[in-house]
Amino acid sequence: MRVGNLGKINGMWKGNKVGYRALHSWIERTLGKAKKYSFDSGHISNRYEWANKGHTYRRNTKDWIELCHKCHMKYDNNGEKVRLIRIKKEMPIINKIREMYKTGNYKQYEIAKIFGFDQSNISKIVRRHTWDLK
Ligand SMILES: [Zn+2]
Repeated sequence: MRVGNLGKINGMWKGNKVGYRALHSWIERTLGKAKKYSFDSGHISNRYEWANKGHTYRRNTKDWIELCHKCHMKYDNNGEKVRLIRIKKEMPIINKIREMYKTGNYKQYEIAKIFGFDQSNISKIVRRHTWDLK
């Protein structure tokens, strides 16, 4: 199982605009204004921006790349689409796990065994914050 921690429900990606802006001003304070296209120096634009790699929105400078405005918009929209598709696909399993846990008939480690997940993942799921992708 690949641990992705990408199923964040209350996360930045879902339209937390204040948090998103605060993060962008943080990265600019830390690394300066974006001034190039990270993947190709020949990619010329008059407007560059910091973009969050993998859309995890952590305060980790390694998570950020420089893109032109156009590519940044495309990059973020695509990230959100991929995320929504994943969440839709995984939601039935997540709901099933939450229902089982709510009955009180199963311990987290028992549910973990049934679904082949780590217990830490079940704990995340029943606390309704994040879960790890398969
Ligand atoms: Zn571009």
